Amino acid sequence: MSRPLRLDPERFFPADPTERAIAARLFAAVEGLPIVSPHGHTDPAWFSANAPFEDAVSLLLWPDHYLLRMLMSQGVALEQLGLSPVGGQRTVADRRAIWRLFSRHYRLFRATPSRLWLDHVFATVFGLEVALAAETADHYFDAINAALATQEFRPRALFDRFGIEVLATTEGALDPLDHHRAIAASGWSGRVITTFRPDDVTDPDRADFTANVRRLGELTGEDSASWRGYLAALKKRRAFFRKHGATATDHGHPTALTADLSPRRAQELFGRILAPKQRRGDAELFRAQMLTEMAQMSCDDGMVMQLHAGAWRNHNQILFNRFGRDKGGDFPTQTNFTAALKPLLDRFGSSREFTLILFTLDESTYSRELAPLAGHYPCLRLGPAWWFHDAPDAMLRFRRQTTETAGFYNCVGFNDDTRAFFSIPARHNLARRIDCAYLAELVGTSRLEEDEAADVAVDLAYRLPKAAYRL
Ligand SMILES: [Zn+2]
Repeated sequence: MSRPLRLDPERFFPADPTERAIAARLFAAVEGLPIVSPHGHTDPAWFSANAPFEDAVSLLLWPDHYLLRMLMSQGVALEQLGLSPVGGQRTVADRRAIWRLFSRHYRLFRATPSRLWLDHVFATVFGLEVALAAETADHYFDAINAALATQEFRPRALFDRFGIEVLATTEGALDPLDHHRAIAASGWSGRVITTFRPDDVTDPDRADFTANVRRLGELTGEDSASWRGYLAALKKRRAFFRKHGATATDHGHPTALTADLSPRRAQELFGRILAPKQRRGDAELFRAQMLTEMAQMSCDDGMVMQLHAGAWRNHNQILFNRFGRDKGGDFPTQTNFTAALKPLLDRFGSSREFTLILFTLDESTYSRELAPLAGHYPCLRLGPAWWFHDAPDAMLRFRRQTTETAGFYNCVGFNDDTRAFFSIPARHNLARRIDCAYLAELVGTSRLEEDEAADVAVDLAYRLPKAAYRL
């Protein structure tokens, strides 16, 4: 017996009838607002080529590290899901068999955000009316694949259907941005912009760092083996990215450590890193110094800076060796901000032209560090609940722990931060519902008037991301 797939129109709203009604009224006014997606990881090639997506497995399962990690935790090997080891052959070629295996395990995702996002995609994007389970696997596989073959499911058509006003992708510092150039030249009206993510040339712990720095010099005609030339090359790449629509940079660092070395010490450090004659701690100090250098460049060129700190990436060494990055082997770590950011804030903290948006995987810092910092320093803004915390209860925890100290206006609204293009409406819909649920509580307990809450709901869904990211 298959179960109907039903999305409750009042899902995630408070159970109390008065607050539930308030939340429903607030949500009705923001549900249809355009989607502003200022940070994410969709592939710009989709929008330049506008080719059909391949099939259910390669679209919905393989790129989704949330799904892979849960399946793996329950003993499903990535080989069984058809993923090929680095440099190896695909082990399972039959995609229908892979989809059946995934469907048999769909119960693992009960009460997780993956289930919420996927059910939203299945119901609203593909119009499916029964829930995914072992017995509906073939129906899903056939229906999704048939839909993907139609014009209405091409990337550009979906971009319009989803109501996306602007979508930011993320590219490394050496990326030629060919797809963004092609999109701009195509005459299509969709706004897909890039984001400058220079970790490939600022993180000495990357195996390809030295080669990347050399390539940075070749691309820009600067002597990237000298500290001065390296900085000049980075400025040129930032200008190149700005020309292709970027309004922001993004920095994925293991910690939030910043440093403000004298030019002479910074030059010596760079020399040791490249030599390579690294001492213990040099790589971390270099990343720290580069955050401050990037902040200075942001003051000069107006790009908004994002810091995504605290992920221990590729923790599972065997998985990483066999399958590479982004397969679900990344974890939150304890992260410090107040001490770590001090060198950078000593320089730029009071600047009103510079914006630094902070993200954390360490929820314990929301009320202890992040909200107090953002509620004081003019340059600081709080990014939304990130990654592991992009889920109903976690988003509510974020509001509960930050609003009383930082208010709403030191936040930047929602980021979907996803490579799963089809789930973008689901994620924004969920974030809007949670914000309305929280605001309804404030109205229900006489802490806000309903018209103020309605105003904040629009700010969080639409105005704040546009303002914070200068879109
Ligand atoms: Zn991201």
